Amino acid sequence: MTVTDEGTLISRNPATLAEVGRSPSLTGGALDAVIARARAAQPAWAADLPARRAALRAAAEAITAATGELVPLLTAEQGKPLAEAGQELWVAGHAFATLAGTDWEPEERITASLGRPVTVQHRPYGVVAAIVPWNFPVYLAAAKIAPALLAGNTVVVKPAESVSLAVAAFVDVLRSALPEGVVETLTGGPETGRQLIDHPDVRMVSFTGSTAVGRSIMAQAAATLTPVALELGGNDPAVLLPDADLDDAAARLAAGAFLNAGQMCIAPKRIYVPDPLVEVFAEALAAQAQRTVGDGADPATTMGPLHNARQLEIAAGMLGRALDSGARTVTGGVRGHALPGHFLDPTVLVGADDGDDIVRQEQFGPVLPVVGYRDLDALLAMLNAQEFGLGASVWSADSGAAAAVAGRIDAGTVWINQHNALDVALPFGGVKASGFGREGGVAGVWEFTTARVLDPRPAQ
Ligand code: NAD
Repeated sequence: MTVTDEGTLISRNPATLAEVGRSPSLTGGALDAVIARARAAQPAWAADLPARRAALRAAAEAITAATGELVPLLTAEQGKPLAEAGQELWVAGHAFATLAGTDWEPEERITASLGRPVTVQHRPYGVVAAIVPWNFPVYLAAAKIAPALLAGNTVVVKPAESVSLAVAAFVDVLRSALPEGVVETLTGGPETGRQLIDHPDVRMVSFTGSTAVGRSIMAQAAATLTPVALELGGNDPAVLLPDADLDDAAARLAAGAFLNAGQMCIAPKRIYVPDPLVEVFAEALAAQAQRTVGDGADPATTMGPLHNARQLEIAAGMLGRALDSGARTVTGGVRGHALPGHFLDPTVLVGADDGDDIVRQEQFGPVLPVVGYRDLDALLAMLNAQEFGLGASVWSADSGAAAAVAGRIDAGTVWINQHNALDVALPFGGVKASGFGREGGVAGVWEFTTARVLDPRPAQ
């Protein structure tokens, strides 16, 4: 992605570096006009819940119908293989269909402490800003749009600038099934994001992206006391207990770690195994890590490039420093590639430890360190003392033992004998530097509402 002097966004194919297309960077009066459309649409949208449910169902059908046309664009702009782009579109449609039927009511009757009946209304904020990253640009937009709309908000989506075309095309599909102004795309970079957050008609900001940008958004939103929900970075550990099924764990963890070339906030990013099992597990993992790396548009490709040069630099830099300090690749590493894009092969690493950036920080790439541990209590104490808390997993043949360990890990989700099993019906989010707020299920709808109590004086 490059930005011209005129502020036009140029999307580039991460595999070939060819231009995919251009989008406007909207600020000032153009940004005001987008938000004004969303504001004008909101009262009528909020008035009729059955109509909203029906519209979300229609949006799900429109996504299914448009998948064939959206998939090549998502691949060209984001880099992921066609099959993964198809899965992302499927999950986005599933999110709309699921939210349409979510058991959520905007009003409840409760009994106050002195026994009188009171009505609590769960009201939409109004116009909500959805600021989303480039890794799963369509799904992560859908995961905000669907619950925010169900709650009666209208939504202005600001995609990451490098995937503006795919997200705008996706939102156009939604718009074909929804009343005018209910969901709008606002393309642009950080300045567009800042102006969106500051806008007086934006009443809530839901952000998915890096921890650093999340911090700056929260600080900025403090000035206007605009509520924020932050889905931030992660550095998910997978903890294997001594009795884990190594082959099964290797297959499932490799599938999770190399999906989208490792650019997934809830991918397993480091695997802790009992010391004596490090080598045998790393070999099993390496066997499962083999991919055909190439242009996502080639049907033979099973892993695409990294999305941009900076991401490659971060992941390859961390890998290089780990190798310099004595770690060893069991498979993978940086290799030359016929195409000029941002390629890094799926890599399994041994000999790195928590002193290395590749283990301690979020590398957001296809490098998977296998780290030995001796003392489980010390390992859990160390993990809980670290900054992130998005996902984690525990692996064992004894589900009770695994659940006991899972219950000691500070994270938004702890999986047992699986990893990154997302489900839009479940509350998803992080703790600590991974953010706060939840997406998914009824909790995800609550996130986009604020309560108003109607408290009439009881008749004498
Ligand atoms: P990013 O934080 O750089 O950008 C995310 C979005 O914020 C983009 O739309 C960007 O244009 C916008 N932005 C940047 N600066 C801004 C500012 N000052 N004000 C307003 N908006 C601004 O993230 P990225 O590089 O696109 O994505 C990768 C990161 O996202 C990783 O850290 C990853 O872990 C995280 N992520 C988290 C989740 C989750 O659900 N927790 C999911 C996917 C990705």
